[in-house]
Amino acid sequence: MTTRIEQLRAALNGAALDALLVTHPPNIRYLTGLNASAGAALVTRSECTLIVDPRYLQSATLVAQGGSGLRVRLASAGLDAAIAEEIRSAGVQRTAIEAAYLPVARYQRLAALFSDARPHPDAVRQQVEIVPTEHLVERLRVIKDAGEVATLREAAGRLSAVASRAREFVQAGRSESAVAARVDAAVRDAGFERPAFDTIVASGPNSALPHARPTSRILMDGEGVVLDFGGIYDGYCVDLTRTLHLGRPGAGFRRLFRAVEEAHAAAIAAVKPGAYAADIDGAARRVLQRHGLLEAFAHGTGHGLGLEVHEDPRISPLAPPRERVEMGMVFTVEPGAYLPGIGGVRIEDDVVVTESGCELLTNVAVEL
Ligand code: ZN
Ligand code: ZN
Repeated sequence: MTTRIEQLRAALNGAALDALLVTHPPNIRYLTGLNASAGAALVTRSECTLIVDPRYLQSATLVAQGGSGLRVRLASAGLDAAIAEEIRSAGVQRTAIEAAYLPVARYQRLAALFSDARPHPDAVRQQVEIVPTEHLVERLRVIKDAGEVATLREAAGRLSAVASRAREFVQAGRSESAVAARVDAAVRDAGFERPAFDTIVASGPNSALPHARPTSRILMDGEGVVLDFGGIYDGYCVDLTRTLHLGRPGAGFRRLFRAVEEAHAAAIAAVKPGAYAADIDGAARRVLQRHGLLEAFAHGTGHGLGLEVHEDPRISPLAPPRERVEMGMVFTVEPGAYLPGIGGVRIEDDVVVTESGCELLTNVAVEL
């Protein structure tokens, strides 16, 4: 944690910022180890203070006792008032906020607290400038350290073990919701804290909707089923999709499946340090285009995994054109093809970028 805070300080220094007010819970957890749904951390050039309400005082105190140089401030009269007090007493001026996670109303409230602020008794009248920033902590989070990779590898192994039982869950005569409930129970039994998102079980024509929610629709022989699920293990998210077919698949479904399988393999083969994120996406997209399925692939090829299930990097045609992947990045590769009214196929695995290419973290066969 100390190294992470030091890295953040270097970034603050580079941007001539005195402090960052961290309000996004996964970012607070990344920097300090505190797992809380609310609170803030003020990271200045010399200190890092956790500001928490009474619910999290005990956890924050425990984290601070971990010897990581953290202080704790109890917000007994409201979080924002305590944040303002901390910023004042730290004597910082250019204070960055995480613009993506601070609602306008709260931003205005904080700004008002500073404009009304009486100066700290020890300081001359202090001007606090609030500077909206983005990605300061996310830029650190995008490269996983060895411990994070080990956690993600373990998590992906456990999720793969659940996926290898897909045939047991996905059976004709069961509703999509009933299948999802079985998958969720298996995810918990496999040691996950909880599913990382609402499990997708999309059967027949529903499988043409990339983000379908499970319904009461009964699975039938002769149709495809997309099963997309994830788990949170020790705080870290993994995510996996397999597409199955109930009964013997026809030629049309086979063609669709093979095209997506080929796109999935092409994208994985394109992953190596220095590759452009947009090119990895392009590798999958070109394959689908060759099969006449360009229009059928209406989402990005992948997303980063970590403390959040969707984080940087984005492996997408919309990725910044010069954005490259680097060793230690962990993300999904999940091309799909969706034919409205007919059905869809998606295959998703999780990879970590290695020195020479990538390692598949999920390890369950792709088979029809
Ligand atoms: Zn998924
Ligand atoms: Zn995904």
